[in-house]
Amino acid sequence: MKLLEKSQLIKNQEIKAADNLAEFCNVITRNNLDINAFLETNQEQAHQKAREIDFKIKNGKKVGRLAGLVVGIKSNINVEDFHITAASPTLKNYLGSYDATVVKKIKEEDGIILGVTNMDEFAAGSSTETSCFGPTHNPAAPGLIPGGSSGGSAAAVAAGMCDLALGSDTGGSIRNPASHCGVMGFKPTYGAVSRQGLLDLAMSFDQIGPFASDAGGMGLMLDVIVGLDPTECTTLDWQVPNFTREVQDQKERLKGMKVGVVKEFFDVSDGPIVKIIEDRLLQLEESGAQLVELSFEYLDLCLPTYYLINYVEFFSATRKYDGRKYGHRIEEVCGEEVLRRIHMGSYISQKEYSGKYYKKALQARSLIRKEIKSLLKDVDVLIGPTVPKLPHQVGTHLDPMEMYAYDVLTVIANLAGIPAASIPAGDVKGVPVGMQIQAKPQEDVKIIQLLSFVEKNL
Ligand code: GLN
Repeated sequence: MKLLEKSQLIKNQEIKAADNLAEFCNVITRNNLDINAFLETNQEQAHQKAREIDFKIKNGKKVGRLAGLVVGIKSNINVEDFHITAASPTLKNYLGSYDATVVKKIKEEDGIILGVTNMDEFAAGSSTETSCFGPTHNPAAPGLIPGGSSGGSAAAVAAGMCDLALGSDTGGSIRNPASHCGVMGFKPTYGAVSRQGLLDLAMSFDQIGPFASDAGGMGLMLDVIVGLDPTECTTLDWQVPNFTREVQDQKERLKGMKVGVVKEFFDVSDGPIVKIIEDRLLQLEESGAQLVELSFEYLDLCLPTYYLINYVEFFSATRKYDGRKYGHRIEEVCGEEVLRRIHMGSYISQKEYSGKYYKKALQARSLIRKEIKSLLKDVDVLIGPTVPKLPHQVGTHLDPMEMYAYDVLTVIANLAGIPAASIPAGDVKGVPVGMQIQAKPQEDVKIIQLLSFVEKNL
C-alpha cells in the first residue's frame, strides 16, 4: 500500500496506528536478528504513542502529518533515551539526552520513532560492515552488503520494518544503500534540512534525508523535516515547496523537461547497470523528456577531493572524543577506517602540508562545483546510475580504494551542495540497481516530481 494512502486510512480510523506498528514489530522479531537493521528499539514506548494517536483520532482531535507512521533513525542522529553510538565503541554507552531538530519535528507531527538503525562506524563507509555491532545484511539480495553508510535505515525500509527512515549523506550514504536495497533515498540541497543533533562526519558535506518505499512517503517526510532551523546556522531560509502536493499532482510534467546525460557517469559504470539506466532514459524520452548529452571533465578529481576534505573535517570533528566526556578516547577503540581518517586528517592538517593538500582540495572543490552548476544551467536534472558497481558479499576484503570507488557518482552532489536522490530502476539477477537524479540547489522539488513520475509510469 502506498504511504499517502496508508496515512489517510490511519486518519480515517480504517487502519489503527497500533496495528500498523504491531506489524512492523512482528517483522523485526522475525528478521532483525538476521538482517541487523535496527540496533535498538523501544517497542513499549512506541505502542504507547500509537495508542495515544488512535485515541486522538477516535475523539476527533487533530493529529500531525506523520500520524501513526513508523520511523527508524540512523544511530548518528540524537534521539532522547536511545543509545546514539554511531556504531562505534567510542560512544557505546552514550545515551541521547535530547532530540535532534529533525527528530523533534517528526515527533511533533505524530510520527512514531521505533528505534535506531545500524551504520558504518561514524558514517565512514559504503557497506555497513564497519559497525561495532556487526554488519547489516541486504534484505533484497541475501548475502550481499546493503550499501552504506546508512545501510541499517535502507534495510529497515526494504525489509518492511518501518514506513520511513532517516539517514545521513556525506558522500552518498543515503543514495548508495537506497540503490543496493531497492528503495528510494533522498539527499536534499545542502542546508535544506537542519543538521542540529547529527554527529558530524564532514560538516560541509553532511545532510540528513529520508528513505521511503515510495514517492508519497518521501514527500511526507520532506515536508516535515525541510526548513529553516534558527539553532543551526547552515540551514537555508527559502520558500519551501509542498512536496506531498507535488507527488499527488498528476500533471504531465515531463513534456519538455530537459534531462542531462553525462557521458562519464556511464563510462565508469558496469555494463548491466548502464543498460538498465539507458533503458529508463529511453522511456523518459518516450514520455516527453528531452535528453541532452553532456560531458563532465572532472570526474577523476571528485574522489580525491572529497576524501581529502572528509579526512580533515572528520579529524577536527573527532577531537571532542578524547575520553573525558564520552568515556573512550576514539583512537584507542575505533576501527581501522576511522583510524585511517583520523591519521590522514591529522597529517594533512599540519601547517606545512596544508598548502599542498587541503588548499588544493578546496580549489578543486570550487572547480567541481562551478562545472556541475554550469552543466545544470541548461537542463532541469542530471540522470545516471547511483552506484557504478553491484554490492559485494558481506565480509569480502576490499582495500580502501576499492571501497571508495563505490562513491564516485554520489560524492559529486555533496561537493556541489546540490539535491540528489536514488530511485529503483531495475535489477541484475535480482540485485537492485538505482538511478540517480540530481538537480540545481533548492530545486529538490524537480526530483520529487520525477520520482513520482517514474514510480507511476515506468
Ligand atoms: N562512503 C563515503 C565515505 O565513506 C560516504 C559516507 C557518507 O555519506 N556518510 O565517506
